[in-house]
Amino acid sequence: MYYIGIDIGGMSIKGGITDENGNILAKGSIVTKPYNPYRETVKDIAGLCKKLMAEAGITEADIKGVGMGIPGTINSQKGVITYSNNIHFENVPIVKEFRKYIDVPTYIGNDANCAALGEMVFGTGKGYKDAIFITLGTGVGSGIIIDGKIFEGKDGAGAEAGHMGIRIGGDKCTCGKRGCWESYASATALIRQTQRAMNRHPESLMHKVAAEHGKVSGRTAFIAARAGDKAALGVVNRYVKYVSEGLISLVNIFRPEILLIGGGISNEGDYFIKKLQRQVSLYSYGGRRNPYVKVLKASLLNDAGLLGAVALCVRH
Ligand SMILES: [Zn+2]
Repeated sequence: MYYIGIDIGGMSIKGGITDENGNILAKGSIVTKPYNPYRETVKDIAGLCKKLMAEAGITEADIKGVGMGIPGTINSQKGVITYSNNIHFENVPIVKEFRKYIDVPTYIGNDANCAALGEMVFGTGKGYKDAIFITLGTGVGSGIIIDGKIFEGKDGAGAEAGHMGIRIGGDKCTCGKRGCWESYASATALIRQTQRAMNRHPESLMHKVAAEHGKVSGRTAFIAARAGDKAALGVVNRYVKYVSEGLISLVNIFRPEILLIGGGISNEGDYFIKKLQRQVSLYSYGGRRNPYVKVLKASLLNDAGLLGAVALCVRH
């Protein structure tokens, strides 16, 4: 039996066919057209699925389920995208529309929730039951897994840990509020913090690193810090504190077995993860007296969204 996973993003829509173990048989992508009427987008997605089925040499009858991970507020029970600001969809009955083209059981979920589930079924989270997955990318995405199941809140509108407040009146967030965790812990925020430090420290190695890479990125401060640059190390350590501030709050509320870190910044690997682990272990409630919470790097990387969408089907 095979599954189709669809990962809908602001820039592209990725699709893949896998077996029940998450082995990818075929994958491809199409460009996301924001402001496109949803019927057109769904038609394009169905077209991608048909192309992939042909490539893998299978038919609709071989497909046990289709899963879709979508950014925004997703009503997984009703199969409706309540609101997605990245692709500008509101109240879109995507499952009903999709099944006009490919009539197999279709499940949808918030993309970060899917990625979390994907890690639990196919990745680092295998064998654990309680986990919190955080993606540090353009924004801060979160997926909360309790007893092996995604916690979504009413109509899928919950589990937006990126928008918990860490500073009253702080930096402005994309959601309109100020001081959200995301406005300090996302890659976008790290770039802003790096830029500010560069302005203050014209002597810093960060200038050379940014020039070599053609821009200031989420990697700039990390590269310079590893090379011993003091100002860069200051940026990294401060960023670690911002990320940890949210992680510690989540540990204090949920006390999961593991914290899974994904998204672009997680590619900094052990250097970054160990710093987070130290903060979480030191400052979570009860310190070392309470159960140890492991901080781990997510493992599915570029296929996280796709495999997460497949995991939605597998878990059904
Ligand atoms: Zn916010």
